[in-house]
Amino acid sequence: MIYDVIIVGGGASGLFSGALLSGLKTLVLEKENKVGKKLLLTGAGQCNITNRMDIKKFYENYYEAKNFVKPILNAFTNEDLIEYFERKNLKTITRDDGKVFPKSMNAKDVVEVLLKEIRKNKGEIKLNQRVNGIEEVYIDKDFNILDEEEYENKKDYPHVDIKKIFKIYTNNNSYMAKNVIISVGGNSYQNTGSCGDGYKILNKLDLDIVDIKPALSPVILRNYEFKDLSGLSFENAKIAIYEKDKKQKEFCGDLLFTHKGLSGPVIINNSRYFDSNMEIRINFLGVNENIFRENFIIKLKNNPKKLIKNILKEYDLSTRFVDKIINSLNLFNKTASNLKKEERAKLIHSVVDNHQIISSVQGYHLAMVTFGGLSRKEVNKKTLECKKISNLYVLGETLDIDAKTGGFNLQFAFSSAYVAVKNIKEKYN
Ligand SMILES: Cc1cc2nc3c(=O)[nH]c(=O)nc-3n(C[C@H](O)[C@H](O)[C@H](O)COP(=O)(O)OP(=O)(O)OC[C@H]3O[C@@H](n4cnc5c(N)ncnc54)[C@H](O)[C@@H]3O)c2cc1C
Repeated sequence: MIYDVIIVGGGASGLFSGALLSGLKTLVLEKENKVGKKLLLTGAGQCNITNRMDIKKFYENYYEAKNFVKPILNAFTNEDLIEYFERKNLKTITRDDGKVFPKSMNAKDVVEVLLKEIRKNKGEIKLNQRVNGIEEVYIDKDFNILDEEEYENKKDYPHVDIKKIFKIYTNNNSYMAKNVIISVGGNSYQNTGSCGDGYKILNKLDLDIVDIKPALSPVILRNYEFKDLSGLSFENAKIAIYEKDKKQKEFCGDLLFTHKGLSGPVIINNSRYFDSNMEIRINFLGVNENIFRENFIIKLKNNPKKLIKNILKEYDLSTRFVDKIINSLNLFNKTASNLKKEERAKLIHSVVDNHQIISSVQGYHLAMVTFGGLSRKEVNKKTLECKKISNLYVLGETLDIDAKTGGFNLQFAFSSAYVAVKNIKEKYN
């Protein structure tokens, strides 16, 4: 049996491909004992399928891949995705922050819609099939696989019907297909099935893989002093990353203290730029440092008898955080008039220029996505077909594409499935 399409990996992009592949003989090969394990975990089990952000701003969430993803997202936009699910009777809701979820707030319903479509298409799914290699083979009209010599002898005769197909090898079987979609995800949350196999399979085909690392991940700080404030967050904090005293990048957004270090959107979305031993300078108030300094000094002068901690509490800072800073500098019972210049400088630094060292970025067990993957140069950005190997498509997180939190990674997985399927179907028309 030769399938029209074999989809390797039954996650977000693989299942959506299967759902769209009507009219073709399709097989999904899934490594795990069930499909969609990661999809079920997304958005804390609620599945943030996309974001309602205007499509023109949408691209910015894909970092340096923003131009690459443009045609893919334009071909199947966030609005198209919402409309698709609504048409399949999955109502959606959009939160104030633009994040879109199924109205039931249950990821299972998203997986169910896709499985129902695959069943409707008479697509097959085989579980516990870990693909470990793909080979291009040539067959004659009687489906005999030709060895190299036979192929060389026959290929130039126009009357000899030779076709290129793929042979796909799993842990215990092999399958044949005219087209292959690789949708095995990245390397993070390995208990959901994605474990970096895609990079090995594609590398064996001589395709270029950009080095991978965890992304969308919290960081651990060295000599972390805010463990007891774990769970405390700061709106619109500013952070700057320094390497050897040189500022590398600066970001703004909500920040969260964890048991071991920092998290929250400003950290998670930019963790792809972080590395061990980098210095992170935090401005907890997110305001201009000089303006804060001047304003704080005026307040001290105008309130000489006031306790410093009470002056600091006039700013948009939580009491627990102020007490922590004041205690760590031994200023608990100090009044403004007693504050020495060096103490004042340290206090200001603690609030708007707090230096911390990154011990490490949390690994793949906590990283929501993987940075790196199949080089974008290897695929046609209008179809996601490999430039060097026709009829081989690579989707979703296996590609060197990662996006910010907020539904952008799933949108890319779905949009990439759409463009590949469209291209495959066009070949059959
Ligand atoms: C905890 C968590 C929450 C998240 N929440 C969101 C969210 O709310 N919104 C959002 O946009 N993004 C979210 N993401 C990111 C998003 O889930 C992924 O980017 C997306 O699932 C990638 O889709 P994919 O199809 O490329 O891969 P996956 O969905 O990871 O699917 C890959 C599939 O391939 C299978 N597979 C792997 N290797 C093989 C092999 N060798 N042979 C056969 N099958 C194989 C796997 O078992 C898996 O089923 C979240 C990620 C995590 C970890």
